[in-house]
Amino acid sequence: MLESQENPKSSSKKSPSASGSIDIYAVQCGKCHKWRVIGTQEEYEDIRSNFSGNPFVCSRKPGTSCKDAADIEKDASRTWVIDRPNIPKTPEGFKRSLVLRRDFTKLDAYYIAPSGKKMRTRNEIAAFLEANPEHKGVSISEFSFHCPKIVEETIPEHVEKRASGGGSGSNKKSKTMKDQE
Ligand SMILES: [Zn+2]
Repeated sequence: MLESQENPKSSSKKSPSASGSIDIYAVQCGKCHKWRVIGTQEEYEDIRSNFSGNPFVCSRKPGTSCKDAADIEKDASRTWVIDRPNIPKTPEGFKRSLVLRRDFTKLDAYYIAPSGKKMRTRNEIAAFLEANPEHKGVSISEFSFHCPKIVEETIPEHVEKRASGGGSGSNKKSKTMKDQE
């Protein structure tokens, strides 16, 4: 896949679970191209937020060097989704969630405010920030609804069959996500 070089950061997901959420975060080393598992979403977002300015290398993971075997292989044993680099880090207190649709056509992003309120659009975020002046240090620019692209080759077979059995042939929605702003 061409995006694996352009967007070497990626999160990956195990076999479909009920929640359809991301359960493993991995980043590709810019030197040896091995994949390293990143322990928490926060660390992962930190690396992703400045990926172009500060590309990831194995030595940034404690106790790890390029000589160590890869933590994980990018293969079809789990479904992979490739993230865009440089997505802003989620503001403190908020949580960013990605949920894979059951038919594996795309992921949906949403934010959860410290109050527990779920927000699915920029307009909702803007309205929330305006209505809650205690978050005045937080800018709308710190939120992004860009979703990772699903790596088609890693979609489980049974899902692909179901998805293409609906009459729309092999038309895959995930392809159109590539050039989205
Ligand atoms: Zn390395």
